[in-house]
Amino acid sequence: MSVFRLENPKRRNITTVVSGYRKHKDDLKKDFLGRCGYCNSIDTWRFVWFEIDHFVPQKHLKTIKETDYINLVYACRSCNNAKRAKWPTKDEKIHNKNDEGFIDPCEDIYSDQFKRTNVGRILPKTKIGQWMYDAMKLYKPQHEIIWSIAELDELIQEIENVLKETPNDELKDRLLDCYRGFMEYSKKLSSEGL
Ligand SMILES: [Zn+2]
Repeated sequence: MSVFRLENPKRRNITTVVSGYRKHKDDLKKDFLGRCGYCNSIDTWRFVWFEIDHFVPQKHLKTIKETDYINLVYACRSCNNAKRAKWPTKDEKIHNKNDEGFIDPCEDIYSDQFKRTNVGRILPKTKIGQWMYDAMKLYKPQHEIIWSIAELDELIQEIENVLKETPNDELKDRLLDCYRGFMEYSKKLSSEGL
């Protein structure tokens, strides 16, 4: 088993008034470390679309404005689409009740609700984790596929660095084969539009 995420995202205290919430996208990408707040998928590949989620859905906002940075989450399309306007408490101030509802991904305890298997599959660890897991469809295979590609990408870079220090033609050829396979896989995923 692996930990769900290595680092927790933290929103800066951004209070700039903007004309539309999308203007916050660059700041969100930075604060969420280029990862989906909900599933922790990385935003490196263009086949994984990234959007902005309103943590408290817009229809339940009373005092929070739709452009307030504090309520925005950098999210992959899969999580954003699955979450939609789900908000069981119907109250902007109460995020969850009786193990139903959401935990803000910028809270450190968000990480404690899930774990990952050695092949990147997300699993819930708590009751509210189970609720969020179902609500955001964190069981979808794309989460483990994206995790595996990121691992592979990292490994290829590591091997490349080793090869720079110690040239080894056989290993270099194997790396090239692996890299080609990786690119094909990436292209296939792109055309299937996960
Ligand atoms: Zn996601």
